[in-house]
Amino acid sequence: MNWEIVMGLEVHLQLATQSKIFSGSSAQFGAAPNEQADAVDLGMPGMLPVLNEQAVRYAVKFGLGIGARIGDRSVFDRKNYFYPDLPKGYQVSQFFSPIVCEGMFEVPLEDGTLFPIRITRAHLEEDAGKSVHDVFQQETGIDLNRAGTPLLEIVTEPDFRSAEQAVAYLKALHSLVTYLGISDGNMSEGSMRCDINVSLREKGSQTLGTRTEIKNVNSFRFVERAIHSEYERQADILESGGTITQETRLYDAEQNVTRSMRSKEVANDYRYFPEPDLLPIVIDSDYIEAVRATLPELPGAKRTRFTSDYGLSDYDAALIVPHHAMADYFEAVVQFCKAPKPAANWILGDLSGALNRNEMGIEESPITPERLAGLIVRIEDGTLSSKLAKQVFDAMWEGEGDTDEIVATRGLKQVSDSAALEAMVDEVIANSPDQVTQYLAADEAKRKKLSGFFVGQVMKASKGQANPQMLNALLLEKLNNQS
Ligand code: ADP
Ligand code: MG
Repeated sequence: MNWEIVMGLEVHLQLATQSKIFSGSSAQFGAAPNEQADAVDLGMPGMLPVLNEQAVRYAVKFGLGIGARIGDRSVFDRKNYFYPDLPKGYQVSQFFSPIVCEGMFEVPLEDGTLFPIRITRAHLEEDAGKSVHDVFQQETGIDLNRAGTPLLEIVTEPDFRSAEQAVAYLKALHSLVTYLGISDGNMSEGSMRCDINVSLREKGSQTLGTRTEIKNVNSFRFVERAIHSEYERQADILESGGTITQETRLYDAEQNVTRSMRSKEVANDYRYFPEPDLLPIVIDSDYIEAVRATLPELPGAKRTRFTSDYGLSDYDAALIVPHHAMADYFEAVVQFCKAPKPAANWILGDLSGALNRNEMGIEESPITPERLAGLIVRIEDGTLSSKLAKQVFDAMWEGEGDTDEIVATRGLKQVSDSAALEAMVDEVIANSPDQVTQYLAADEAKRKKLSGFFVGQVMKASKGQANPQMLNALLLEKLNNQS
């Protein structure tokens, strides 16, 4: 049978506020257990929540970033369930009236096309604490530092048809929220967690199959793998005439399988009701416009500008723009050297390579945009061949100064003096009679190959400093005039 996979994603995004959503405790990551939990987070009787306005502002910012409708009156609800890491016995969330209503998110795919995903809603809620199973023998510890951390849960319609689309969406979402500055998007620290709802149906069918929900997948790579393995599992069941049980599953990265965690609750089980300790959030158009005024240029607009103003390919723009710092770096380089395409090539090639090898972000690059621009200027004006430029780049990475200093101290200037080049070419030809005879006897295609020998010899004689274009032209002229 031919199965089509259908998916909807729920992303829990930790908002980058200083303090928690309903208390004054710090929301920073990495403190010792329970250092950042006060009486409100512990759910002590009589404690009252106070809404963090920054969390509201960030949620609205997100809504505007995806062109969604902002709920003019959103309400918090209690979602009731018992779990050791939830001392109050309920999570404060938004069920009936979320702050961000329906929107549309355009996801760029690798081929440069845009793929629209419908956003169902995004709502504010508090995170729960964490059960710790590996510190005390036979006992479970509870860490409430995370309790009350502000989350924005972003829910899509079931619009995904492949793992590639799901990963592209998550990457684009990651890029958007870091541009907006509403989250650090750090997946390994849990700032962005993804639940994947997966169902299969016969190709061509219009009805949705029964879904499972894979909880808390925390890297792009695992998202892709989890989807593939869940697809295989469901397809096997359906092929053999079975039915899918609606349930929550966990992805085990080590075994590359998903495992059943619990049967799926339905909304009724949670006995949602309005949170009586918090007022509804009323948002007027003045507030919305004030937030809109703080929106930066977003990735979609920047991609368009980079292709139209700088003439970058969709491909280059799609690699540079998602990383805010890289996009800024690129623009700074271009400002100095006015050569966008070489700037993109150097940033995506040698610079990214060196940064990756050293596990550094581009913000930490020892080569400033101005210095990289200086290198590009010297390539463009013919001082440096691409080979010499790589040497300069390496020296610059090691802190040997700017391009002109390195060229001077290392004597790396490209030889573009035609008399000097001619003398070298003549000498190589005179010293290689056999190769010359071979060359002259060869046909056009073979000659191309054989000329490499002569180029190599001259390059060697010039210590790699011969201007390659001039050398090639000169060499061909001389060789073809032999006989
Ligand atoms: P819940 O509140 O139980 O998590 P929702 O109905 O809000 O359930 O849906 C959650 C997510 O599951 C949404 O992203 C939605 O698009 C997706 N979804 C719903 N039904 C299906 C289905 N049959 N197959 C795949 N995804 C689905
Ligand atoms: Mg869900």
